[in-house]
Amino acid sequence: MKTKLLSPGPVTLSERVSRALLRGELCHRESEFAELTKRVLANLAAVYPEAREAYRPVLLTTSGTGAVEAMIGSLVPKKGGNVLVIANGVYGERAASTLEVQGKRFELLRSEWLLPIDISEAEERLRTGRFSHVVAVHHETTTGRLNDIDSLGRLCRQFQVPLLLDAVSSFGGEAIDWGAWSLEACAASAGKCLHAVPGISFVMVKKDVLARRESGATSMYLDLFRYAADQADGFSPFTQGVQAVCALDEALLELFEMGGWEQRRATYRTLTEQVRIGLRDLGISPLLEDHPASSSMLASYWLPRGLSYEKLHAHLKARGFVIYSGQGRFEGEIFRIAVMGDLTKGDLERLLAEIRSVVLP
Ligand SMILES: *Cc1c(COP(=O)(O)O)cnc(C)c1O
Repeated sequence: MKTKLLSPGPVTLSERVSRALLRGELCHRESEFAELTKRVLANLAAVYPEAREAYRPVLLTTSGTGAVEAMIGSLVPKKGGNVLVIANGVYGERAASTLEVQGKRFELLRSEWLLPIDISEAEERLRTGRFSHVVAVHHETTTGRLNDIDSLGRLCRQFQVPLLLDAVSSFGGEAIDWGAWSLEACAASAGKCLHAVPGISFVMVKKDVLARRESGATSMYLDLFRYAADQADGFSPFTQGVQAVCALDEALLELFEMGGWEQRRATYRTLTEQVRIGLRDLGISPLLEDHPASSSMLASYWLPRGLSYEKLHAHLKARGFVIYSGQGRFEGEIFRIAVMGDLTKGDLERLLAEIRSVVLP
């Protein structure tokens, strides 16, 4: 039986997405690939139909971190930029490191990883008028918390500060309010909620920003403005991961056929709830007790006393399931289960039976 990946990317591929990888022997300078790229761009823009008019996707051959780096690098100006970075986990803190490497000004508003982002402190700081941008993480994969971007985005709008959002592990599986959040751009990846392969990522950018602005790019390779200009005709300045674009093309058709992102979110919620209840019955508690704060597609759980992550991981891996460890301060204390990708209720029943056999031998 095929191994099931329970990591928040890469995800288990469906048969049809796997097969699409084999149609990829195309040269990236040929018109066939340009046509494919244009279709993928149009379909990415259609995942959230209400975003289509004002935003445009820019496709990059890189992992999710590369898309976030391209977004921050290209859109925050070198002169006069000052970013408020809101962090409550690994990915928010990584955004701050990115700005540091780029030599751009920022302030880090950091919350303890088990806590929500600090909306009232964000409001205090935004009130001073000293920021050009806010950077935040939508689904903070470190814990599985879906951050309250609804409140933060509205604040950004109130103070007229553009928001740059890391939506790498939420795009295609959670609600994004394109109208209310002051969103200038959001970064996302093919290999998470879109169920394609890692290596292709993209940034949805406001069209007027792409048309108007000078690039602040600190990287020759990750300059969104340069990609956006070439991709108007379906071409890219550098070689794209052709096979990975084919997989994304197929994965988007699959998403539309199943009913779009809302249907996918409903599936995620059902599967996550199944895992939560099954683990609760084994005495295993979620990291975030207030589970409305959790994302639809990933939850973290405390390891039961006396059971190491290595033992649990090895047992499950030998039986065809790859779970995901904690990062940073949670390493060795938690495990994470993501339900993205080609997974069924039956798969998770088998998973829960295997966890039971380790916990209650
Ligand atoms: C996965 C993820 C990323 C990017 O990780 P890569 O390993 O570079 O793909 C960025 N932000 C969040 C919130 C993520 O979950």
